Order: sequence, then structure tokens, then C-alpha cells
Amino acid sequence: MRVLLALVLCCTGTALAERTEHEQFAFELFKALIESDTTHATGDTLTVSNTIADRLRSAGVPDSDVVVVEYGGKGNLVARLRADKPSEKPLLLLAHLDVVAANPLDWSVDPKKLTEKDGYYYARGTLDVKNEASMHLANFVRIHRQQLPLKRDIILALTADEESGPHNGALHLIREHRDLVDAGLVINEGGGGLIKDGKYIANTVQTAEKTYQSYRLEITNPGGHSSLPRKDNAIYELAEVLRRIEAHEFPVRLNDTTRAYFAGVAETAEEQRASMLRGLLEEPPSPESVAYFRNEPAINARLRTTCVATQVLAGHAENALPQRASAMINCRVFPGVPVADIEKTLREVADMPGLEITRKWDSLFSDASPLQEEIMKPIREITEDMFPGVIVLPTMSTGATDSTFFRSAGIPVYGVSGVFTDMDDNRRHGRDERIRVQSFYEGLEFLDRLTRAVAVDQ
Ligand SMILES: [Zn+2]
Repeated sequence: MRVLLALVLCCTGTALAERTEHEQFAFELFKALIESDTTHATGDTLTVSNTIADRLRSAGVPDSDVVVVEYGGKGNLVARLRADKPSEKPLLLLAHLDVVAANPLDWSVDPKKLTEKDGYYYARGTLDVKNEASMHLANFVRIHRQQLPLKRDIILALTADEESGPHNGALHLIREHRDLVDAGLVINEGGGGLIKDGKYIANTVQTAEKTYQSYRLEITNPGGHSSLPRKDNAIYELAEVLRRIEAHEFPVRLNDTTRAYFAGVAETAEEQRASMLRGLLEEPPSPESVAYFRNEPAINARLRTTCVATQVLAGHAENALPQRASAMINCRVFPGVPVADIEKTLREVADMPGLEITRKWDSLFSDASPLQEEIMKPIREITEDMFPGVIVLPTMSTGATDSTFFRSAGIPVYGVSGVFTDMDDNRRHGRDERIRVQSFYEGLEFLDRLTRAVAVDQ
């Protein structure tokens, strides 16, 4: 009675009694994760990793299959369920433990406490991405408890420093502990369902992302007194270079992911737009279609590499000729295009003697993951079963996640969750981050069914 009362009192809103034991288990993990501070700069992923490791061991996962990898003081948890006679390389379930900072003053609820309100769970990390971390964890434990026959190992990796910071756990694991995370395929964040005006539209699967690469451009000049202007001037020359880069358009490219994406979006678009989208799929893409989407950043950025000036710094005094003018150019490189090609193009386009171009860091080369039926088929089937009429939409992100590190190591990654969110209300990294209560449990079921479809011997 007392226990029952405690349960009833602990949670308001959606009737707790209706939740299954597994849903309740996942919710408790979710709440515990949310209320552990893993803010990427100040939080503690090591303690959290150790706590999860203890939980897994007490659930009976063998000691030797639960590892906490410490890197730069951060914690990364890796656990494994073994197949007796694996016929495929492992399935890796990946999610990061760290979250971006949240200023409580900006929020209407406490960002470090899980609050249920109006059909949502509110807190930092509810969408990015302690939801998926706890879903994978709950499903992993249940599959272990049920002792299901596996056709491949299932690896769970919950990592640190995805949001930023020098100790990215996913990259560290793939570089230094490849044996722990080597897999045939990975399920990670990056995808999810889209809701438009209250209606479920599409279940997205992120299979590619653009490469982030910045360049510093610099022009130097002897300078002098500004009362005696000379013909060469670092600021004017840099301005000229920036104009040329602005005017340059990188060639249109498509891959299987963007082809499937444009075709899928066309299915739900109105007539003219749909025909323009189909024009992109022609060989070569129709110039009319390319021109039509030139001013639409969300489409244009998926058609080509983009490079844009984001910072400038020039001159040292009001009354002196500039000795130095520099700019930062941020490029998002189409998957599969070598970064060196982009640098070469920038030099040609700038066409300015004395211009220095420096790579800000060495990005990793990564290409799109293939749309293989091994995973795309179960994704389509489970989507149709759980959300009838909803299309499955492969997507290419213009931003970057940890998936890049696995793709660059030749391991295909699928960003998929079955968690539906409102397209017009994206609160990842923002104030009052929240997940629909219904979406949380749908995601739990979707990921569970997908994990089983891919890894359990049926
Ligand atoms: Zn994330």
C-alpha cells in the first residue's frame, strides 16, 4: 500500500498505472539520467557511467562485458550482449551522455529536474539525447533478461563530449578501443519523426552528414599612414576575395540519401513544388529546379558544398593603412568530397596573390551510409505498423554528430529513433527543451523493435 501510494504520489499527469513495467523502467532510467548533471563543461559523465555500469552488472550482464573508458576525466560506458554464434558483425546502439548548458533563469521549469506538464517531459536532455540513451539502456537490459538468441552481438555505447570539448568519447573509442565498438552498423541520434500541424508526416533516418571545415583567409600589407593611401590595400583585397567566394556556387551533387529525400518530400508537397523537386532527380538535375531552390537554404545546402564568410578582422588603427585583414570561411562539404578539393577551389576562386589560406583543423572524410535493406526494411515495416501512412525519409544533415567518426571509419550509421517532434518547434539546445510523453514511449517501442529486428535471431 505504501509503495503504491509512493508511486501514485510521485507522478502527476498521465496515469502511471497505464504504463507497462518496461515503460516504467525506461522512465525511471530517463529521470535518473536527466537529473544527473552531465553538462558538457561542468558535469560528471564519469560518475554517471559508473552508476550505469553498476546497474548493468546487477542486472546480470557479465563483468567483463561492462567497461567504463575514462578519457580526459570524462566517462564513456560500453557494454555488450553476446551472440552464441554470431553470423554478423555487431549492432552498436550509440548515444551521448553530455548535454549543453541550460540557464535556469531562461526556463519556465527547472532544467535539471524532469517535470511532466501538458503532455510533455521538460528538462535539458529530454530530446538531445538522454531520451535515446535511456531507451537504448532499457531495451538492452530487457533483451539481456529475456535471454533472446542473438544473431549478432549488441553493443551499447553511452559517450561523453559530443556537444563540444576536446575529449569526444565516440572518436576516442573508435580510434583507441576499436575492438570495443567495432560494428557492422550503428544506430545513433540524428533522425526522428516529424509532426506538422499536429499530424505525423515522416519518420526520418539520417544516413549522411556534411563535413564541417573552416578556413582562415589572410592578406597582409606593409601598411603606412592613412593620409597616404597606396594602391594595394589588405581590406579592399579581402573584400574582393569575399565577393568572389560569395558569387561562387559549388556544383550540384546528389547521393542515394538526398535522392530518396527529395523524392519523399515531393510526395507530400503541392503540385509546383513537387515537380521542381522531381526536376532535381533528373540526370543531370534540371537547371530550372536548381535555380528554383537557390534561395531556399534548407534545400540548396543539401544540393552542394557551401562556404560562407562568418567572421572578419582587419586593421589596427583608425588612421593607419591595414597591415592585416583576415576572414573565417565556414564550409559544409558534401559527403564524399575530399576537403582538399574545396581548398583548391577556394584558392582558384579567390585568385588573389599573397592570400594565405589556412585550414582551421583537419576534418575527417566521411561518406554517406548505404541505404541497405538490412536496416531500411525493418525501419519501413515498423514505421508502417506503428504509424500507418507515415513515410520513411532518409536525410542528410547539414550539421554534424558523432556519426561522422563511425562513417569515416567505414562503419555505416543510421540516425533513427521513432521519436516524433513538432517540425516548427525545435527546442534542442534551447530553453524549455521537452519531449512529448507519447513520443517518449513510442520511441522506446520503435527502437526496441528495430534492435530486435536487426539483432535477434528470428
Ligand atoms: Zn545530440
